[in-house]
Amino acid sequence: LNLLLFDGEDRLGPTRIAVRGRRLQHLLRVHRAQAGDRLRVGEIGGLAGEGEVLAIDAERAVLDILLADAPPAKVPLTLVLALPRPKMLRRILRGATELGVADIHLINSYRVEKSYWQSPLLAHDAIRECLLQGLAQARDTLPPPVQFHRRFKPFVEDTLPPMTAGRRALLAHPGDYPPCPGRVVGELLLVVGPEGGFIPYEVERLREAGCAVVSLGPRTLRVEIAVPALLGRLCQAP
Ligand code: SAM
Repeated sequence: LNLLLFDGEDRLGPTRIAVRGRRLQHLLRVHRAQAGDRLRVGEIGGLAGEGEVLAIDAERAVLDILLADAPPAKVPLTLVLALPRPKMLRRILRGATELGVADIHLINSYRVEKSYWQSPLLAHDAIRECLLQGLAQARDTLPPPVQFHRRFKPFVEDTLPPMTAGRRALLAHPGDYPPCPGRVVGELLLVVGPEGGFIPYEVERLREAGCAVVSLGPRTLRVEIAVPALLGRLCQAP
């Protein structure tokens, strides 16, 4: 736990919080936290800073907090991802949040299994849990917005073109395409396909919506490997 995240419900006052449940268990078991210990804390959607444990028992930990630090800057990248299988989605959301992706769009495509859209992982609380894990790891406090687009055609025809206007938009697709650029300056949009890949019709629609097709080379990577590899290649370290 690199950052103990809390929200308004945990507040006891302007400079005091109490945490329970999983965060408390983590403090007890992993940090072996005791009164007097200091640790990094962050308000979800707000500032980060330091907390001092005032009291801790099996029910709750009470901390005094001083928040003064802005969270790390996001990378100016919008990730558009064909909805992966739930287990993989969890890891990708966590990883993309950890790497500082600014916002995330999960879209349908021909090779996305219909059952994936029924997954309990798509519930608001489950998504939020993945995002918070990524934030805590990276000492960030701002969850990226996650939006769902259950129909491919309206997404590429109506939603995507204004998103690609005025910024570089790339579609990662294995094959004989120009290499994915490195260290791109400015706002970016990156589209990543489903496990079975986008079908040619979808590639054409995505091109028409403003995306240039790029490749990472001859190795076809799993989505959960392709996403961090692409982000690492594209994004400048701040
Ligand atoms: N058989 C599929 C195909 O040829 O498109 C493989 C899809 S791959 C497992 C899943 C997604 O990861 C792709 O749609 C693409 O967005 C991304 N990806 C994987 N390997 C890549 C590579 N070498 N270059 C660019 N994108 C890649």
